[in-house]
Amino acid sequence: MKIESLGKEKKGKMSFLLKDSTISFANAIRRIATEEVPVMAIDDVTFLKNTSGLYDEIVALRLGLVPLTTDLKSYSLPSECSCKGEGCPKCQVKLTLNKKEAGYVYASDLKSKDPDVKPVYPKMIIAKLLKGQVLELEATATLGKGKQHAKWSPGIVYYRNVPEITIKKKGAEACAKACPKRIFKFEKGTLSVEKDKAMSCTLCRACVDAAPGIVEVSAKPGEFIFTVESWGQLSCRETIKEASKIFDAKLDEFAKKIDELPK
Ligand SMILES: [Zn+2]
Repeated sequence: MKIESLGKEKKGKMSFLLKDSTISFANAIRRIATEEVPVMAIDDVTFLKNTSGLYDEIVALRLGLVPLTTDLKSYSLPSECSCKGEGCPKCQVKLTLNKKEAGYVYASDLKSKDPDVKPVYPKMIIAKLLKGQVLELEATATLGKGKQHAKWSPGIVYYRNVPEITIKKKGAEACAKACPKRIFKFEKGTLSVEKDKAMSCTLCRACVDAAPGIVEVSAKPGEFIFTVESWGQLSCRETIKEASKIFDAKLDEFAKKIDELPK
């Protein structure tokens, strides 16, 4: 297996080239990353006062969807914690919100007991208060997994095939014009692929349909362009590394269970 960089992580997005691999491996990593890598999210809200225009349930739902920075080294999943899920400082964080002024209530109004667990996007709007309205609550955030609820998903992960473009005949302008990603150049009667643009090909085959027999487009076997987009709780690199660790642990468990089978 080989991995090549396709640029550094930027604005919560990272891509890399996965070579000499299989679709089943790429998909296993993708599924584990989105469904099994734990992140922090608010799971319980106690309302002390809510005279805003929104029902408690709606405010709670909105709070749940606020991405919180996650420190996986300091916290454990409630189901795996020494408190057996009852709730303790090792598996939950308390956040409070107390707003009396008219105007928007932002994610940054949530005051966390742990400075390492706080809203990723301070300007996320939770509610709007009119004059005299009050929103006062206490929330509990815990680690959870994306397969339980999307609020515990660290982001989206996807991959696509690497295109292999072969120009078989001298060319037709129709191919260049048909490409929605504008990867071809048609100059002096010759069709060519623009420099550094081949990777943008989505294998839509519009060029093949536009003038049959000129261009051939296929997917390179065993190669994938892997992309991770983080919601901000963890970095893209942390998400993928954590997914690999979980995959590793699953395989260890599998091997152990196989060993335990009667011989
Ligand atoms: Zn605990």
